[in-house]
Amino acid sequence: MKSVAIIGAGITGLTAAFYLKRAGVPVTVYEAGGRVGGVIQSRRKDGFLAEFGPNTILETSPKIAQLIRDAGLESRRLNSDPKAGARFVVRYRRPIAMPSSPLGIFASELLSARAKFALLREPFVPPRRDGREESIAEFVVRRLNREFLDQMIDALVAGIYAGDPHKLSVQHAFPRLAELEARYGSLIKGQIFGARERTKRGEISKDRAPKFSFDEGLQVLPDALAAQLGDSVKLNTPVTKLTRTGGGWRVSTAINEAEFGAVIYCGTAYRLAELEIAGAPSIARQASMETHAEQCSALHAFSEIRYPPVASVVLGFRRGDVAHSCQGYGMLIPKIEGFKILGTIFSSALFPNRAPAGHVMLTSYVGGERYPELAVLPPDQLIETTLTDLRTLLGVKGKPVFTQTAVYPRAIPQYNVGYGKYRQLLADLEAAAPGVFFAGHFRDGVSLGDSMVSGVNIAERVAKLFPK
Ligand SMILES: Cc1cc2nc3c(=O)[nH]c(=O)nc-3n(C[C@H](O)[C@H](O)[C@H](O)COP(=O)(O)OP(=O)(O)OC[C@H]3O[C@@H](n4cnc5c(N)ncnc54)[C@H](O)[C@@H]3O)c2cc1C
Repeated sequence: MKSVAIIGAGITGLTAAFYLKRAGVPVTVYEAGGRVGGVIQSRRKDGFLAEFGPNTILETSPKIAQLIRDAGLESRRLNSDPKAGARFVVRYRRPIAMPSSPLGIFASELLSARAKFALLREPFVPPRRDGREESIAEFVVRRLNREFLDQMIDALVAGIYAGDPHKLSVQHAFPRLAELEARYGSLIKGQIFGARERTKRGEISKDRAPKFSFDEGLQVLPDALAAQLGDSVKLNTPVTKLTRTGGGWRVSTAINEAEFGAVIYCGTAYRLAELEIAGAPSIARQASMETHAEQCSALHAFSEIRYPPVASVVLGFRRGDVAHSCQGYGMLIPKIEGFKILGTIFSSALFPNRAPAGHVMLTSYVGGERYPELAVLPPDQLIETTLTDLRTLLGVKGKPVFTQTAVYPRAIPQYNVGYGKYRQLLADLEAAAPGVFFAGHFRDGVSLGDSMVSGVNIAERVAKLFPK
């Protein structure tokens, strides 16, 4: 039987490879780097467990829990501490707990009376019907008001995308919000009436979805999947070219070439721009491009997708050196409040065993679209910048007893206004180069859960090409 090449050993590629192998389809996974997991990176040192990339998986689909069971990791799964449910948003230069119920918003000091009135008025704001794509900023100002944007949405967008609300597309980056308006005419009405339909479809909304990790951090998952794939995972082997052959696709790396029945690209958008796909002249036609040069530039278009840099700064303190309880998920910080960090996760409150007894571990993020120049500061300046903000916001005193930093020069793709062009191009490429598929964070959503589901779905699609 012909086998399948999978490009990229991030969570998408490993998930796809794991399920294809279980379906009896032989796989080879090519990974450019020297380790598996992609942006997932957990490191245990001095009794602290630092997560530099993602910290939690949101269980928004039953396919996520199924993958954990199938990978044999149920006993190592840790659900986040229910006491750590509270999220804080910074206002008046201090963290304020977000209300846990919709009615609680009206008693909260997070929003002014004017913003609360805007919330009451939202069900009566007519929906937009002209189909024009909007930024999340335009959408929120139109349906609510400017204060919602500056105080709440800006902070949320920094927390999810490290992005700019004036550039992110509501249709692509927050499709559920766009859908609620389109279907119910209002976010609030949609929230109420949509809940029943979500339950029927087996979906869980992001704000209610359980959050989890593993005893030794998220790296446990890619490591376990890679262990089951054995030596079919090839590290330090970037794929440079795909060439159509009589029966499938030849995959070229700097070291060798091999032929496969199908190829799944699960890398990043910016590296897709560097990949050559030869022998599929219809790519040009499909993408309305005629010459080979134009075909190359079809792939080159993916280099336009912004991935702003983000630095993770993980600091450990003695419990007595932090005035704030840090009981909760963490705090989000809107730009208007004038701090340099984008937000902080209260990592040691979320899961047990993240910090030695009597200590607190905090994971802060610097950079993003808000301050890209700060993400690339040297480690000592990143730590000092973070400490300055944490002293004001959480009452941190003294020096941290644990410090670790990591920089992602290209962290999270920005689904900005116009992103539909790239999604369309991926669909066109799949049609023009039969047997080549695309999956992962640049196509199916930027969260870890989205990438896992993307990997499950692409494996199901590709397995159908290889009937037993
Ligand atoms: C700092 C940070 C914090 C985050 N926090 C969270 C969070 O708390 N919760 C959450 O749900 N999500 C979070 N995310 C997002 C989430 O982690 C990612 O969307 C997800 O892990 C992406 O997985 P992936 O496999 O699609 O891509 P990646 O992890 O980027 O993996 C792609 C892999 O493909 C390889 N590759 C690329 N091109 C080639 C090639 N030509 N040949 C061979 N290999 C190639 C790369 O080396 C890489 O290993 C965060 C992301 C970052 C960066």
